[in-house]
Amino acid sequence: MRTSIKPPAESVVDRFLRYVRIDTQSAEDRETVPSTETQWTLVNLLAGELRQLGVADVRVSEFCMVYGSIPANVADATGLPVVGFISHVDTSPAVTGASVNPIIHRNYQGGDIVLPNDRTQIITVAQHPVLDQLIGDDIITTDGTTLLGSDDKSGIAAIMTMIDVFRQNPQIEHGRIAVAFTADEEVGVGIEKFDVEAFGADVAYTVDGGMLGEINDETWSARLATVTFYGKSAHPGTAKGVMVNSIYAFADFLSCMPGNMLPETTEGRAGFVHPYAGVADVQESSIRVLLRDFERTGLDAQERLLRDIASETERRFPGVTIRVEIKESYRNMREVLQHHPHLMEHAFEAARRAGLSPFTVPIRGGTDGSKLTFRGLPCPNLFTGGHEFHSKLEFNSRRGLEKTTETLVHLAHIFAERDRQTA
Ligand SMILES: [Zn+2]
Repeated sequence: MRTSIKPPAESVVDRFLRYVRIDTQSAEDRETVPSTETQWTLVNLLAGELRQLGVADVRVSEFCMVYGSIPANVADATGLPVVGFISHVDTSPAVTGASVNPIIHRNYQGGDIVLPNDRTQIITVAQHPVLDQLIGDDIITTDGTTLLGSDDKSGIAAIMTMIDVFRQNPQIEHGRIAVAFTADEEVGVGIEKFDVEAFGADVAYTVDGGMLGEINDETWSARLATVTFYGKSAHPGTAKGVMVNSIYAFADFLSCMPGNMLPETTEGRAGFVHPYAGVADVQESSIRVLLRDFERTGLDAQERLLRDIASETERRFPGVTIRVEIKESYRNMREVLQHHPHLMEHAFEAARRAGLSPFTVPIRGGTDGSKLTFRGLPCPNLFTGGHEFHSKLEFNSRRGLEKTTETLVHLAHIFAERDRQTA
């Protein structure tokens, strides 16, 4: 199918450059979705462009999410799954996304890249060895004063261009395809408002990853521990024999955190415990601790460890009572995805057909897909070619965007090719 493919009406790079200029930064701790009004600008633009691309059932939800679908173009789509593709419109609250001024470094010939409007911002080969693979490519960076928003406008541009390619090339067979662009991914709340039912896909992919070829089916399993220390307050002038200061127990507990099981000392598949926010007071102190592991047995062990440390602290501080409360935050999507192995197999095959060498690494975090997977929509994560998310050094490249798009086109086609045969 490769030889006779007509190009899209607009290139994925041109699309990307238009989208990143639109400020869609989300904000933490807001009551509403979307957390910022600016996200509507891109969502409404995308809705209009989807209609121009011939998507008939475009709808925008009250929560700033746009949904649409492309009908199957095979004679008999019976037994073919509806395949979904999802990206998010918002950018990280960590770095400003206003007035993004993308810079194209054409035919990159190696060496460090100094960003023109803040020359202290340098993408170095030493810290970004991937640059060696980008010789001859057109690298797209910021001007040094904002983030780029490749996370996740690369995913959006690739999905939109995939639709464009299918429109230009009706000979490429595919089943029904659902697409959605979501709000407030970066602040973790948007996906709760995602309408899985209305989306109508049987399986889906978030297009929100990094390095070309990287496909993820594993996220953390995550729990949140809240440890509360109860003491007894008294007027300090008359506190003798009465006051029990919970702050000392709190400090003792923290000093017992295992030094080799922290975010700053672990990587790869090793889990961690992470005390990250707390309150210290005589009467009552508390600390919130993130528990993270790829295996539930690992989380269970972390939980036992925290409880053991808490009881030892309690023994050392007579009069102090300690309570440990643990809640589940999200689970490793692999628990579900392992029962749908064709999702990873098809994605790997699609990447190979695009000329890439696919690989998988576990994500030391969560994705929107991990939540969707447990809501009944199995959803691995695909690369976008982007790097250094949430920073002024964020970059992608022409090849990154083009190969991501090509992979999506192959992937939708592979479902039609393979699942029809086995249906
Ligand atoms: Zn993202």
